[in-house]
Amino acid sequence: MTLKRRCRFCEAPLSLSFADLGMSPLSNAYLKSEDLNAMERFYPLHAWVCESCYLVQLEEFESPQRIFGEDYAYFSSYSDTWLEHARRYTELMIERFGFTAKSQIVEIASNDGYLLQYFKRKGIPVLGIEPAANVAAEAERRGVPTLVRFFGNDTARELAGAGRRADLLIGNNVLAHVPALNDFVAGMAILLKPGGVITMEFPHLLRLMEENQFDTIYHEHFSYFSFSVAERVLAAHGLTLFDVEEIPTHGGSLRVFAKHASNSAPPVGKRVAALRQREQKAGLDRGNTYGVFAEKVKATKRSLLRFLIEAREAGKRVVGYGAPAKGNTLLNYCGVRTDLLEYTVDRSPHKQGQFLPGTHIPVYAPDKIRETRPDYVLILPWNLKDEIAEQMADVRAWGGKFVVPIPEVRVLD
Ligand SMILES: [Zn+2]
Repeated sequence: MTLKRRCRFCEAPLSLSFADLGMSPLSNAYLKSEDLNAMERFYPLHAWVCESCYLVQLEEFESPQRIFGEDYAYFSSYSDTWLEHARRYTELMIERFGFTAKSQIVEIASNDGYLLQYFKRKGIPVLGIEPAANVAAEAERRGVPTLVRFFGNDTARELAGAGRRADLLIGNNVLAHVPALNDFVAGMAILLKPGGVITMEFPHLLRLMEENQFDTIYHEHFSYFSFSVAERVLAAHGLTLFDVEEIPTHGGSLRVFAKHASNSAPPVGKRVAALRQREQKAGLDRGNTYGVFAEKVKATKRSLLRFLIEAREAGKRVVGYGAPAKGNTLLNYCGVRTDLLEYTVDRSPHKQGQFLPGTHIPVYAPDKIRETRPDYVLILPWNLKDEIAEQMADVRAWGGKFVVPIPEVRVLD
């Protein structure tokens, strides 16, 4: 049987592998002890790059709604740094584009209203669009009107017909999660007023590749965008990117600004051509570059296993810190189980007492590390390595060392 594997943007056949991470359970499918003897569902975790448009993407493996169901949503407001990021964004947008009580702000995947609440406080009308009913209800409670719907062409037409087109249309960390990419972006073009502005944030593929962040590939993320590819996708729907900022979230993200191609203002800023050039220089418009990345991923697996095996053979104890989604991608891909990593710890009480999907590595509270005094602590959320090394500074008191797996296996000084 031949699989019908086609690009979700341009429909060209997909045959160039970007990262083949094997079979993996969903990254957030943590297990309780009573589930350990039950069958687990594994899905292929294989990213491909389209040789025609260079969109990096997972092939579809099962209907996303069926996989993620309604449990998938989480409450954004739980993180302080995230709220601060949202508040700053609001101020920047009002200052730059002069939104007033007469403007309409619309956010897609508005979650619990964590971002829109700041516009509302300034008296600017807002509307959230959020498919998860329980999360949307929380937004309504804080006074953010929210439509419980998946976003696409149909929703956009309905809203536009009801006179609710947007002066500012926001789509943060949603583009990667969209299976029907063209339907989604077409909807954005419909919902945007002729003079309106779109902003979107998404993890930057260039950073993923430069920093070997292959563990940020998981089933929930269908697409991985470079600036140039985002530009191409939006252009196909009559939208022009006129500015871009690089921001630190998720290991390095882009915030892009778009308008209707037919709208002459605002002018296209210098950063657009500069970033496009940087991506060209990095070879993102050549298939070979992606093939090189695929090899680097395999080499990282070998070196992590080499480190863990050598440590065990030398009689050292190795444990993990953190139970993030990216850790599950990494450990499943590398086939690391409790014989190589005894346990991991996490500050979240929801994860403590559970087991990592696939690898069945137990998750304890951080104090477990102080009780057992391991020789090495492998930091799975490597993006927080400084913060964690500081919180767990006493590890060094008994001669323990911190290790990061990405961009390459490295024992921290
Ligand atoms: Zn394509």
